[in-house]
Amino acid sequence: MSETILGIRHKRYKLCEKVYLTITPTIGHEIVGVIDNCSIYGIGVTIEKKKASLDWESEVNNIIPASSIKWGDKEYNLGRIVLRYFLQSDPNKVYAGFSVIDYKVPISGFLSAIIDRPLSKNDCLDIEVNKEKCRVASFTQINFSNVDIFDRCRKFELFYKEWKKTPQYLYEEIRMPSKDVRINLSRNRKKNRNDYISMGSNDYYGLAFNEEVVDAAKNAMDLYGFGSTGSPLTTGLTKYHEELTDYISSLFNKEAALLYNSGYSVNLGVLQGLANAQDLFIADKLCHASIYDGMNLSQATYRVFKHNNTDHLEDILTNIRKKYVGTMVISEGIFSMDGDVTPIDKIVAVAKKHKCRTFIDEAHSFGVLGKNGLGVCEKYSVLDDVDLIMGTFSKVCGSIGGFIASNREVINWLRWYSRAHMFSVSIPPSTAAATLKALKIFNEDKSYLHKLKENIYHFCNGLRDIGYNIAEDHESSVCPVIIGDEKKLGEMNKIFLEEGIFVTPIIYPAVKSEDCRFRFTIMASHSLSDLDYVINVLRETMLKTNFTFK
Ligand code: PMP
Repeated sequence: MSETILGIRHKRYKLCEKVYLTITPTIGHEIVGVIDNCSIYGIGVTIEKKKASLDWESEVNNIIPASSIKWGDKEYNLGRIVLRYFLQSDPNKVYAGFSVIDYKVPISGFLSAIIDRPLSKNDCLDIEVNKEKCRVASFTQINFSNVDIFDRCRKFELFYKEWKKTPQYLYEEIRMPSKDVRINLSRNRKKNRNDYISMGSNDYYGLAFNEEVVDAAKNAMDLYGFGSTGSPLTTGLTKYHEELTDYISSLFNKEAALLYNSGYSVNLGVLQGLANAQDLFIADKLCHASIYDGMNLSQATYRVFKHNNTDHLEDILTNIRKKYVGTMVISEGIFSMDGDVTPIDKIVAVAKKHKCRTFIDEAHSFGVLGKNGLGVCEKYSVLDDVDLIMGTFSKVCGSIGGFIASNREVINWLRWYSRAHMFSVSIPPSTAAATLKALKIFNEDKSYLHKLKENIYHFCNGLRDIGYNIAEDHESSVCPVIIGDEKKLGEMNKIFLEEGIFVTPIIYPAVKSEDCRFRFTIMASHSLSDLDYVINVLRETMLKTNFTFK
């Protein structure tokens, strides 16, 4: 894909005097051409054909090991370059386009005196980014790139700098001292205020700032210091880690559990550690990136079934189950971007029929679904039927770390063969202590769960009132509102911020560009009037930006 298609073009300059490019291919003689134009990362050269004995066709995208620029008696070493394309419009001449790898074309240095228009110091950085065409997704599509491993980074950087200057860039906001639902950001909004209602936090119960939880962390820190000092098999375990692990296994009624330093690494480590080359994973298409990464990391084959479609799961298993020795079906309790619930009872039935193990990621459902908030397996009464239950502390506890709960043999295997567990430091003792406290508070005081459910219900009704079609039985704290146009999403988000609402717009790679959305997350500590205010602002924002739901 060319840079023009991508939507980025570096400004090209003509030179007022004759400047030569000398290239030294791996095979054959030195070739000299006259520079026709150049940009900071590219050079266009005209070369007389009879002097250039090169198999141009096969050199495209190859690295040419050495090059230099010559002007009068001055010479500048340009290092390795890559032939990107060539044209032969004149039978005696070749026009070739090269891009540089090691050095920039010295437009503001060596060549500045002969650029055909005066350059200010920063002119050489001028690029044209077509913001309509260019987006984050564009950069994974560059197929000519990575001749040099940094190629894509360099191009992305050009886009990123420009993108950050636009109103559409509304990420990486910095939180100033503040907690709970009302947070302060480093950016100012209207009337010079910097307070916002948080509508994107994963801390569903606000336990990250609960006083007892914070005290538990402080107390552990006084006793053990800040870090855990090692991985779980070496020096990284304390009594808090042990208590937390036991608490989790008893909560889920499993024989044993294992802690990881993030939810992400649970998925990476468990899927890598369990399966081998004869095995099959079969996962819901909308599973989280960490599940895909874990499946990719393992030696097993993986297949996906259509989202929440157990007929498709059944079809695939009927067709290919026999080819594999071990098989595991993978799904999520609540899907992280859509907030819908997996039909785990049906999945378990299909998996059992085909003699497959089951793995459920309860990242967003632990703390939300079921009578005690244990997740989708509790909701559908299949806790004992699901083989592996994965969860994270980043939602229900507003903390960090994750766990896997299963039978003892599996956990002991993972202890020794799951690399993300074995080769990575354990969570700090203060985190383990605070997480344990948070889990106990949540588990013992059911008012948290009830208030969250009430808030979700209220917010979804509000969405329906303004015409958004969210499922009648929506139960998740994750409430997506699909906008489908990244530009509009940015414009709308700017209004949200002005009006004091902080919600992160979700774009590629978290979702497809055409499914970009606001992902509101509801907390138990939101008041009903907070939620009404957000709905009102959403309605006004739609009017101001001329947006209607499809
Ligand atoms: N699984 C799912 C379904 C998730 O949504 C996430 C993150 N939101 C993770 C795993 C990773 O969890 P963590 O952020 O705690 O590492």
